[in-house]
Amino acid sequence: MKALVVNCGSSSVKYTLFEMENEKKIAWGLIECIGLPEAFYKRETVKNKETKESVKVANHTEAVELIINELLDKKKGIISDVSEIDVVGHRVAHGGDKFSKSVLVTGKVKEELKDCFSIAPLHNPAHYAGIVAVEKMLPGIPSVLVFDTAFHQTIPDYAYMYALPYDFYERDHIRKYGFHGTSNDYISHRAAVLLNQPLNTLKLITAHLGNGSSITAIENGRAIDTSMGFTPLQGVIMGTRCGDIDPAIIAYLIDQYPEYKDAKTLNDLMNKKSGLAGVSELSADMRDILKAVSGGNKKVQLAFNMLVYSIKKYVSAYYGVLNGADALIFTAGIGENSAPVREAVCKNLNALGIELDVEKNKERSREERFISTSNSKVKIIVIPTNEELMIARESRRVIGNNK
Ligand code: ADP
Repeated sequence: MKALVVNCGSSSVKYTLFEMENEKKIAWGLIECIGLPEAFYKRETVKNKETKESVKVANHTEAVELIINELLDKKKGIISDVSEIDVVGHRVAHGGDKFSKSVLVTGKVKEELKDCFSIAPLHNPAHYAGIVAVEKMLPGIPSVLVFDTAFHQTIPDYAYMYALPYDFYERDHIRKYGFHGTSNDYISHRAAVLLNQPLNTLKLITAHLGNGSSITAIENGRAIDTSMGFTPLQGVIMGTRCGDIDPAIIAYLIDQYPEYKDAKTLNDLMNKKSGLAGVSELSADMRDILKAVSGGNKKVQLAFNMLVYSIKKYVSAYYGVLNGADALIFTAGIGENSAPVREAVCKNLNALGIELDVEKNKERSREERFISTSNSKVKIIVIPTNEELMIARESRRVIGNNK
């Protein structure tokens, strides 16, 4: 059985084809900068080495067509017939409060997804276009939607509500949704295996630190709070996102600056020009930040300190919310690869029983690994995330249930 995982971003399509018998990737790649002259297509299969070339693709439909046609290509391809694909799993960024779990795509589901466009205007229309394009290319093959927000549907009301007039919740569905749910689902299951304890007995704090970052408190396998909110802007400081700020700053900017009068400009400011990039005035990329820190750049040092401090505050808050923790888990680009960030986050958290083994932390590895001291009450674990595999498994589970 093969599962194709498709992730349509605002201007990209990423895909992975899995052989589900052994859960191995057999083809993967991406098309980026869709609709722009610099669009490119990068792909690899178990048969062919990575290749990258410029392509002309006007929209998500053309991108999906290109990908599927190449998977079927006699020379470059990896499957001989579309019927080899049993299910397609689509990553969907925002399910709003309509979707609390993965669903099989039907006409009704597509209409409901359209209702979630306003809540994720960059992502959900792209997902929709991807779903329609896949249906056209792979008629009769079931598609499943796996939502980044679904894992967080267990968060209680007092944690997901904002203290705005209640109307805004009822009418506009303004509430915390949370993101990186599929990643949290995957790493929490792996943590249970590594800790050799049932997931439904564990208290976990996860730090998914990538370009977008979020911290999540998980009790007995269920999310009880997460740092991202109505959108992926809330929470810790990120590459280009400001994370938590006093919302009155927005009113101030509107009042003081003619250029900050519309939602798009303000959203761009907070989502694309802030965070590490905004404070350091250098880069959104942690690798550049770490290089410049060692070179003594003060603004970069400040940006690094702010990012680490914001993570530390959420980790500590969630320790309190959970009334303890069995493990702190680091994942995603920064969480998996950046020893200095992990060290700075864990420093002086021994009051909570969080004690990092500094030497183990420095060892480079792509494997799952414990990096806490043997005395640490809270185990510290690095777990490489695998959202694609989780989506493939979920998709298979959903069609199994629908047969
Ligand atoms: P996304 O949120 O886009 O999925 P990723 O999980 O790929 O992002 O993480 C991207 C971040 O990971 C970038 O800030 C990048 O600098 C950081 N990163 C990747 N490799 C390393 C590394 N070896 N050391 C430090 N940071 C790294």
